[in-house]
Amino acid sequence: MNEVKKIWLDVLGVLEREISSTITYDVWIKTLEAIDIDGEKLILHAPSESNKLKINREFKPLIVSVLKSLNSLVTDVEIVVSDEYEKREERQEEKQEETLPKVEANVINPKYTFDNFVVGKCNQLAYAAARAVAENPGQHYNPLFIYGGVGLGKTHVMQAIGNAIRKQKPNLKVLYIPSEKFVNEYVMSVRKGGLSSDFGKQFREKYRNLDVLMMDDIQFVSKKPETQNELFHTFNDLTQSGKQIIFASDRAPSEIPDLEDRLRSRFEWGLIADIQQPDMETRIAILQKKALAQKTVISNEVLTYMAQRLATNIREMESMLNKVILLAKLYNKPITIELAQETFKDYSSPTEEAVGAEDVIECTCKYFDVTKEDLLGKKRDKKIVEPRQICMYVISEMLPLPLTTIGDIMGGRDHTTVMHAKNKVSSLLGKDERFDKAITDIKNMIYKK
Ligand code: ADP
Ligand code: MG
Repeated sequence: MNEVKKIWLDVLGVLEREISSTITYDVWIKTLEAIDIDGEKLILHAPSESNKLKINREFKPLIVSVLKSLNSLVTDVEIVVSDEYEKREERQEEKQEETLPKVEANVINPKYTFDNFVVGKCNQLAYAAARAVAENPGQHYNPLFIYGGVGLGKTHVMQAIGNAIRKQKPNLKVLYIPSEKFVNEYVMSVRKGGLSSDFGKQFREKYRNLDVLMMDDIQFVSKKPETQNELFHTFNDLTQSGKQIIFASDRAPSEIPDLEDRLRSRFEWGLIADIQQPDMETRIAILQKKALAQKTVISNEVLTYMAQRLATNIREMESMLNKVILLAKLYNKPITIELAQETFKDYSSPTEEAVGAEDVIECTCKYFDVTKEDLLGKKRDKKIVEPRQICMYVISEMLPLPLTTIGDIMGGRDHTTVMHAKNKVSSLLGKDERFDKAITDIKNMIYKK
């Protein structure tokens, strides 16, 4: 057993005695995983952001005092969640690896398949395009550019393409890579003597010998002109020889700041498919599917309750579902509304705010007689732009949400777009009656709900 696990086991032994409630211990402590030691810090991985918050708030002092009492050199803890964990691993990798990671090093999660991807109005275009690309890579949409807000299934659908191709055409060379990693590798190859050095050549070859390149979170190449230049050439090389490229991004190409025009235009060459927030029906279907995957049946009533509480992020939805299932097992109880409520009790309320935002969206649509799809979509005519801006303004007035979240809620827009809308609407208040009236009326509709 390694040092990390050993220390954590010792700590657990004490914690189990110190924490009187078994449930608390099982839900919050046992779900932590010791992954590393960094100097004097023990690094613990928590299953979700909300767990992390709770641990930091309520258990960290206890864990630290236990650590200190064990007389080890490790006297502090840091709680991380998956994204940070991956970044940490990357840093480690950079420290240790002198050669490039192998093509296989960027894992495609076998769980992300088309079969377990729930299709709804919000993602049907992205889904259909992804299937077409998986059937005949390089022949339909090249590149396929998928974009949408956080936790809405971009990586899932992208990796589903990878999994399908690996299964049907195992001879093809497929690479999945977060663009941040591409940036790091590029920077490293420059540091190691440029692209004509051995390292540089290896880097180039790695990318240009592929049949399918999937680059995730491409928005990270923003403000990195050198990497963009390299990516541009990689792009040309691959597409000219009929190889498939798929990008995923948290925003549309037109919304990525500091991006070379020629690269932006390449992103727009093939098909741009967005993923929107799932509607109620899709959210319920997703919860159901995820529950069944754990061989758990949950009544429609409870699924509906959960889908109402969680509106904007499927990742969060999943982690709450897992918690409900775990609690039911621990209490040895059926999954009821009460149990779900109990689980949500600890959950801070961005979700309630999201539901609040849903109300604003709904009322704005009703007031202006536009569809939600149009309001959150891309149309640019005045008839829809004004309601959209007013909607963002009202959300930002009524709810304490960061602009980035409002942007996400409003169909994955950039925070600068939200800021612009706010300023625009504020500047018209008191000058254009229509705006004053719309805002008052919409607010009244919300209060009456
Ligand atoms: P993104 O890359 O857009 O931030 P992910 O692809 O990582 O989001 O998705 C977050 C979680 O939500 C994953 O566990 C994924 O399986 C799940 N998920 C997202 N969309 C769907 C869907 N349509 N059907 C089933 N699961 C989904
Ligand atoms: Mg992702």
